[in-house]
Amino acid sequence: MTIFDDIKSLVDVPTAARSYGVEVHRGNMALCPFHRERNPSCKLYEDHYYCFGCQAHGDVIKLVQELFGLKPIEAVKQINSDFALGLDLDKPPDMEKVNRRRREIAERKAEKARATHMYDVLLKYFTLLDRYKIRYAPKTPDDEIDGRFVYALQNIGYAEYMLESFNRFDKEQQAEVKLEVDRIEREYKRCIEEWGEC
Ligand SMILES: [Zn+2]
Repeated sequence: MTIFDDIKSLVDVPTAARSYGVEVHRGNMALCPFHRERNPSCKLYEDHYYCFGCQAHGDVIKLVQELFGLKPIEAVKQINSDFALGLDLDKPPDMEKVNRRRREIAERKAEKARATHMYDVLLKYFTLLDRYKIRYAPKTPDDEIDGRFVYALQNIGYAEYMLESFNRFDKEQQAEVKLEVDRIEREYKRCIEEWGEC
C-alpha cells in the first residue's frame, strides 16, 4: 500500500470537501469549487467527486491538489497534516494510528447504516398502517369493524410522529430511540405475520 492509498482510505471526499469550505448540500451535492454556479452540481461520493457542470473529477488527493494548486505529494502532505493522520511520509506509516482512524471510519459507516435501517423500519410501519386504515375502513355503518382498521387508527399517529421526528434527531437522539425502533420492527413483523401486507 502506498501513502496515496493510505490517504484515500483514511479521508473520504465529502469530509475533506466540507473541511476545506466547500458548500455541501443534500445528497452530497456540492457547489462546485471549480466553476461558478448557484445550484450544486458537483456530486461527492465517498471515494471520488464528479461535477456535472464542468466535468471536474478525481479522488480526495486530486480535490486538494486542485483546490490549492498543489502537486500530488504536496496534497498528500497537506491532508496528512490537516487531518492529523500521523502518517510519516518518509517512514512506513504508523499502523496503530492508521488502524484507529480506519476503525473510526468503519464505525461512522455502521452508524449511518443503522440510522438508514431504522428510518426504513419506521417508514414501512407507517406505510402499512396507512394501507390498513384505507383498505379496511368500514364502508357502511353496519359493517363489522375490521381489527386491522382499529389497530391502524390506534397506532398511526404515533408511527407518523416517530417517522417525522426521526429525521430531525441528531446521532445521540437516534441512538436513544434504538430500542423503541426495534420494538416497532417486531411489531411490524407481527402485523405482517398475523394480517399480511394488506
Ligand atoms: Zn464544476
